Amino acid sequence: MRNRIYTSELSGHVGETVVLAGWVNVRRDQGKMVFFDLRDMKGMVQCIVLPSHAEAILVAKEIRPEWVLRLEGVVNKRPEKNVNPNIPSGDVELEVTAIEVLNRAETPPFELNTDTKPVNEDLRMKYKYLDLRSERMQKNIRMRDKVITFIRDYMHKNDFVEIETPMMTKGTPEGSREYIIPSRLFQGQFYVLPQSPQQFKQLSMVAGFEKYFQIARCMRDEDTRGDRQPEFTQLDYEMSFVTQEEVVAYNEALIIELIKTVYPEKRISQIPFPRMTYEESMEKYGNDKPDLRENKEDPNELAFCWVLDFPMFEKDDEGGVQAVHHPFTSPKDEDLHLLDTEPLKARANAYDIVLNGYEIGGGSIRIHKRELQNKVFELLGLNKETIEARFGHMLTAFEYGAPPHGGIAWGMERLVMLLQNEPNIREVIAFPKTGEGKDLMMGSPSSVPEKTLKELGIQLKK
Ligand code: ASP
Repeated sequence: MRNRIYTSELSGHVGETVVLAGWVNVRRDQGKMVFFDLRDMKGMVQCIVLPSHAEAILVAKEIRPEWVLRLEGVVNKRPEKNVNPNIPSGDVELEVTAIEVLNRAETPPFELNTDTKPVNEDLRMKYKYLDLRSERMQKNIRMRDKVITFIRDYMHKNDFVEIETPMMTKGTPEGSREYIIPSRLFQGQFYVLPQSPQQFKQLSMVAGFEKYFQIARCMRDEDTRGDRQPEFTQLDYEMSFVTQEEVVAYNEALIIELIKTVYPEKRISQIPFPRMTYEESMEKYGNDKPDLRENKEDPNELAFCWVLDFPMFEKDDEGGVQAVHHPFTSPKDEDLHLLDTEPLKARANAYDIVLNGYEIGGGSIRIHKRELQNKVFELLGLNKETIEARFGHMLTAFEYGAPPHGGIAWGMERLVMLLQNEPNIREVIAFPKTGEGKDLMMGSPSSVPEKTLKELGIQLKK
């Protein structure tokens, strides 16, 4: 038997007999002949079964959309007027000589050969593996992979090392509630899922790696807040011996190169990216993520900007003080004295990158000295015991030659969503959860057997 080739390769095999495999996209029975489109991971091709191939036409009359087939056939050039220039194999068709049905398929609960966005989203989620067969979703997931691959290569070329940091860890403050995992061996104790690799990346700087990055999964237990997901992906990185200017410049070069390479059709409205302070942004736009596009209807316009000099602290709902970025962020040298007098006025070495009105990343130059870090924890209202219990390891690490360091993290889903012109991040996640954090396909969250709870020493309240 011949080796299978892809639909995208057909143009190079005109006149030859080839083998294809894939799914039936649509089928048109024209009485004597049968036409159908076969779809594989590279695209699609029109297939024709003529009455002269008696056995094949019998099978062809039976096949339905989404059946899985292996075909043998002859590649023919399409008549000039039938050429479809929009698909890679649009200039050829397959005259099918044999059909093997590898699997049948039920009629899908919604049509897959068109954009599935108008379909009820719960239904799409329940049958995600079908939704993902649609052309738009295939494209979104494949483009996401291209973006991530580009970034990985770029980071490696610039001497960054990818380090996998633990998923089972201890809380790290990024301003959200945390997911926890009960420990079986130490009952009553818990691991915490990371909201970000923040502490580990800083500790990697103490460890002497100097340039760390990770395509990192992060978990945050937030109430239903529109376009959020309980788990998401960040490009997370950190560098030693850098200034804010150097982080901003590296980041900007990376993103420009990424757009040029992966999205050449896009236009960045201003290079270098405009910069403004947090104060300017609030004054001028009333928010800290201004949309600077000239034409909001243009799907190819990308308006980046930097928002700099965020305040260190803000008031929280209970009248206390909380970190605007996170407690590891350093204050501006010239505002250090304000920590003792008017801490709410102190500005931080913190920066956000904004794209078309969305915050797509944020970072800071960190504190790397014990005394200052301790002071910031105190200003946040933590007492000595709490500081020691939660962050003692950071304070200790800072005593062993911690270099100055800083970094940033990008929300990958938001970035890809904007690049793919999608309305929400679920469209660029292969297996997303609902706004309420449910996975309708797997059926999670779900209960666990009584025995499991017992082993963990957990008793549910009635
Ligand atoms: N850990 C921060 C975040 O997740 C990013 C950073 O400061 O590098 O937002």
